Amino acid sequence: MTESFQDRLDGLRARMAAACARAGRAPDEVQLIAISKTFGAEHVRAAAACGVRIFGENKVQEAEAKLPACPGRLSWHLVGHLQSNKAARAVALFDQIHAVDSLKLLQRLESAAKAEGKRLPVLLEINVSGESSKFGLSPAAAPELLAAADALEYAQVAGLMTMPPFTPEAEKARMHFRRLRELRDEWRAQFGLPLAELSMGMSHDFEVAIEEGATWVRIGTALFGER
Ligand SMILES: *Cc1c(COP(=O)(O)O)cnc(C)c1O
Repeated sequence: MTESFQDRLDGLRARMAAACARAGRAPDEVQLIAISKTFGAEHVRAAAACGVRIFGENKVQEAEAKLPACPGRLSWHLVGHLQSNKAARAVALFDQIHAVDSLKLLQRLESAAKAEGKRLPVLLEINVSGESSKFGLSPAAAPELLAAADALEYAQVAGLMTMPPFTPEAEKARMHFRRLRELRDEWRAQFGLPLAELSMGMSHDFEVAIEEGATWVRIGTALFGER
């Protein structure tokens, strides 16, 4: 018999709670984003029927087709790379944007959020490993955006996000998650922003991310199955 979505969700929540307990954190400090990319609206509706309320997508175009078919009070996060020319479309669809990686994009999001009259939490994607093929700001480039954040009225820089280089061994991601938290602590003091959110951890490494301070974990495969 195949495992139901509810079984996978229960198992995932138990592992999240255990990771919180190991780290001496309260379970409600970490929120689950169900990453529904490549899965159709019927999968989102089934997950919503099990009580999942927060979903993540990585492409604006896919979300434009899917969201209208997913009724109910769901919250949608864009977790993938966003080109600045799609900022307005993204703001119309999503409640939070996780991978802001340029000042131009941040400013476009501010204008679009202002036009919609919508408060928009955003996260800065930091390339902590320095791996050249990845999206994300280098730690040296982020302060320019953090300095600009204070003047924004609608886009609110709420924290940081990272995607470590892929490795099947979760422990190898630990140093990157820890580095993101250290950068957050440093920048929080330097720029006087709360930077409360750390979006880090996916299906294979979310437990390590929680131990290192994640507040958002982005889980696709462990909930919906292989893509
Ligand atoms: C696909 C994706 C995830 C989820 O990955 P899984 O390994 O399936 O859990 C998380 N974050 C981002 C940015 C993604 O694109």
